[in-house]
Amino acid sequence: VQEESGWMPIDPTKPYDPDNIFAKILRGEVPCNKVDESEHSLAFHDINPLAPVHILCIPKGQYVSWDDFSKNASPEEIADFVRFIGKVARDNEMVEQGYRLLANIGKRAGQEIPHLHVHLFGGQPLGPMLA
Ligand code: IMP
Repeated sequence: VQEESGWMPIDPTKPYDPDNIFAKILRGEVPCNKVDESEHSLAFHDINPLAPVHILCIPKGQYVSWDDFSKNASPEEIADFVRFIGKVARDNEMVEQGYRLLANIGKRAGQEIPHLHVHLFGGQPLGPMLA
């Protein structure tokens, strides 16, 4: 089903698809331009950057959405991911000038990859909304 947005939307009623591209990156089957890694999280540069700094942060566990992650991830995974995103922002000098976090979840937001990911945008004035 192709929605008005043009994206192929994810189907939140389906189980996690282990063949999605971020699962392949996590298994080392597809390369990525890695920024940082922790026990439970990975950050890499977006392949199609929409800002001078455009980094994706993902949990290593198999979670599709924020609600899935917040319900099913362990406290350690959740703490790791939240702290990790802050560290990526600090280490990439985004804090002083400001940055934006964004997660597209599900059909209406046009989520393209069915593995939870948080976008970090920075490196330029971002305006009221980026996408
Ligand atoms: P979404 O639209 O929020 O699901 O974002 C998916 C993002 O993943 C887009 O910004 C894509 O450019 C990015 N993307 C897709 N495939 C790859 C890849 O192999 N490496 C890095 N980024 C990717």
